Amino acid sequence: MSAPPLIEARHVSLAYRTPRGPITAVAAASLAIAPGECVAILGRSGSGKSTLLALLGGLCAPTSGEVVFAGRPWHARPAREVEAVRARDIGLLLQDGGLLPGLRALDNVLLPAVLAGRRRAAAAERAEELLRLVGLGDRWDAYPAELSGGQQRRVALARALAAEPAVILADEPTGDLDALAAREITAILARLRDSGSTAIVVVTHDPALAAIADRRLWMERGTCTEHLDDVKRPVSLSAAIPPAVEQARDGVFEPPPVDLVPARPATGVAGLARSWLPFLAGIVVSAAAVALLDAVVASRQGAVVETARAQRQLAEEMALEDLRADVDDVLVDDVLVDDAGLATVTVALQNYRPQRPLHVLGPALEIAVQRDGRWESVPADLDEAATGIRTIGADKTILPVRFEVPEGRYDELLGGYLHVRIGAAMVVGDRPDGSGELFERADAYYIYLRDPRRTEDDIRRANGWGEKATVPLWIAMPSH
Ligand code: ADP
Ligand code: MG
Repeated sequence: MSAPPLIEARHVSLAYRTPRGPITAVAAASLAIAPGECVAILGRSGSGKSTLLALLGGLCAPTSGEVVFAGRPWHARPAREVEAVRARDIGLLLQDGGLLPGLRALDNVLLPAVLAGRRRAAAAERAEELLRLVGLGDRWDAYPAELSGGQQRRVALARALAAEPAVILADEPTGDLDALAAREITAILARLRDSGSTAIVVVTHDPALAAIADRRLWMERGTCTEHLDDVKRPVSLSAAIPPAVEQARDGVFEPPPVDLVPARPATGVAGLARSWLPFLAGIVVSAAAVALLDAVVASRQGAVVETARAQRQLAEEMALEDLRADVDDVLVDDVLVDDAGLATVTVALQNYRPQRPLHVLGPALEIAVQRDGRWESVPADLDEAATGIRTIGADKTILPVRFEVPEGRYDELLGGYLHVRIGAAMVVGDRPDGSGELFERADAYYIYLRDPRRTEDDIRRANGWGEKATVPLWIAMPSH
């Protein structure tokens, strides 16, 4: 491989800090991705694939080792540069990537450009083109809820391509889709690979998707090696595009996308999205939150017994797969003269497999706001969120966290928006009394929150947006 790699991971490790000690997710993994190359990462659940993907994209910082992106380590870049490079060069496609439910498909795709201050008309034109290219040209005005899972994923893919990124990082993009929708996504990614314009790193369990890759890697307990299949024999790429895409022409489903890769804009603009895709996904929950949980956990420790590995795995599965934890909504109180802006973030917990009872100790929640490149903790009213054990069912358990939005100018990335981090640390178990095997889960969510003290017009002006530009109250950034 003569061209310098686009991404190179050098002995990169990451340990999640949890109340009961570090969990090593990635352990001295090394790999290189060439420009335009398509690489699949395979491995069992829990082997560290998602974490590795986040490390490659500079979404989180390694505990040791380094990731070099386009010739420069992520850690050697100033925060603003990291965010700009991510916005321009990295397209993320995640199962949980989250289209904004209140926006039509077209608006979801063009939001990156609008937020970056581009002219709406030009951005809309390009967004329409991308939607056509993923086979959804006629559904541009549909809201996410009106689209199937596969169609939503295609909108997310169009959005990821909006900035013409150097690489698409995809985490199990077909894992939750039916066979036909999975094939459609696979076909689009295969065309993208053929175009050679964008490198693709895809984590997948899906053999058809793995087969389109130029190379397959195998992840096991945090380390990454060449996949045995590739060592033994090169995989034929002709099997890559399954015939069912043809089936889709029978009218029930939309036609498959044609010519995926759009022409580069004549202006040679590097990317539409400067600020929409920083997609920060830090992992380390603050010491305060951890200490708080520590105290709670310590009081239960007598009841905690060492159990078999299988039981531990079960707890882990419940904590990371059954339990959904996400920011549900953000509300801002009307601002009175002299009144401080008060915001309420609601975190929702939900049990995706309600037949298996799930109990959560905590969560301990912590809010921080970014100023001058640093995270400052702000006092938050946790509404008893940090105490007691609660049973999580199929219906959302909503936990409000109220905090005062500190005064000041917030123009870190997006004029008039505060970059807010919500850290959540919780202990998950299957018994209501907290006995039995427990698993600690630590998450961080990132949102952009409109400064409640500034008017919409003011914010439009600050960002050079058009008079009619939407000024959302908050914008969620996918975490991983
Ligand atoms: P994969 O994507 O291969 O399933 P992950 O990267 O999600 O693997 O997880 C690797 C390891 O890190 C697992 O042991 C998992 O339990 C742990 N882990 C993942 N996410 C978290 C988290 N938010 N908090 C604590 N541990 C985590
Ligand atoms: Mg994963």
